[in-house]
Amino acid sequence: MRIRLSSPDVGDLEIEYVTRVLRSGQLSLGPLVRRFEERFAAYVGSRDAVAVSSGTAALHLSVKALGIGPGDEVLTTAFSFAASVNCLLYEGATPVFADIDPETLNISPGEIRRTIERDYLWDAARRRLTNPRSGRVLKAILPVHVFGLPCEMEAICAVAREFSLLIVEDACEALGAKYEGRAAGTFGAAGAFGFYPNKQITTAEGGMIVTDDPRLAALCRSLRNQGRDEDGQSLRHIHLGYNYRLSDLHCALGVAQLERIGELLSPRARIAALYSRELSGIAEIALPSSRGVDGPSSARSWFVYVIRTRGPLASELRGALMNGLRRRGIACQAYFPAIHRQPYFAAFAAQFQVALPVTDSVSDSCLALPFSSVTTEAQVREVCGAIREIVSDGRRSMREVRACAAPM
Ligand SMILES: *Cc1c(COP(=O)(O)O)cnc(C)c1O
Repeated sequence: MRIRLSSPDVGDLEIEYVTRVLRSGQLSLGPLVRRFEERFAAYVGSRDAVAVSSGTAALHLSVKALGIGPGDEVLTTAFSFAASVNCLLYEGATPVFADIDPETLNISPGEIRRTIERDYLWDAARRRLTNPRSGRVLKAILPVHVFGLPCEMEAICAVAREFSLLIVEDACEALGAKYEGRAAGTFGAAGAFGFYPNKQITTAEGGMIVTDDPRLAALCRSLRNQGRDEDGQSLRHIHLGYNYRLSDLHCALGVAQLERIGELLSPRARIAALYSRELSGIAEIALPSSRGVDGPSSARSWFVYVIRTRGPLASELRGALMNGLRRRGIACQAYFPAIHRQPYFAAFAAQFQVALPVTDSVSDSCLALPFSSVTTEAQVREVCGAIREIVSDGRRSMREVRACAAPM
């Protein structure tokens, strides 16, 4: 594609730091891991941070270290990337989906409450919610800060407190986002970030767990390093662990990106604002909402720019946009396709029937446009010009269809 969906923003600083590690001879388990973790924890305002090999690994270790497993249900969203549900399936826990808010596209706190009231019984003696149909216990909520817009954490934390639920945040798309003065990812027992090349900062591949609990951090450090003893070097394995380590090369890249985070985030906000300006006033297209982050102490961190087509032919129009954009050499993606409709998920979905009308309709109408800190204003104008053209072609052919179908 001539205009790509996203591109990493890597400069001389990254090359310098990575080269230094290459020259040092210590490519893994070296000092850059700790440095990246400390700087990251300071940036988001958590007590600790544990670097791992991917965002998926960060989610998996968070779930595992919190003891979420067979017999547990976790309330989460199906409008997400597969990893936020897979981390539960890896551990034998059962994802239960609550529908999303049609405007923010994040899990709806109202739907969380409705699901709890409809499907669970409060066991006051053991202070836990049980599902009489499945016999399992509701253990946690796993909110995903979709596209970098923070979830309504005040309401979610209130439900969690009321029913003794853990919170594990998928903040993989939300580095730099804050809600009521606190960084997305720091509200729960653990939060996960990811550094794939399309994210706000990249380490090529990589992830981070943030937590205020030193015991949880220590357990995650052990689990990422094959369950090794505290010192991390010996061959004494105290847990069944994994190799989820992040190398010093990756961490050097991360340290450099974090030093440049201001200059990585601000072009994203500028490009998003330009998209919103250029696309405003097209009746068939809904623009990203910033509901809940209008105050000075909350902020979205732009991860992707996703529009939605609307009206009775929303899904057809999206198809026409995807074809038309790609024909013009402009990349785009139907993002996210909902998890509960993914082919692999059928085996799990059979356990319980879920109706997720908002998730379904958003999943049929959303479209991610080319977006990164190196997307140029000229590219945005070209993409928006193409969208206007395709929409007006669509209107014309609709009129023709109606004229043909009209009775004589
Ligand atoms: C990127 C992302 C992840 C993590 O992905 P990795 O490729 O494993 O780093 C998890 N959840 C969401 C919502 C994401 O966008």
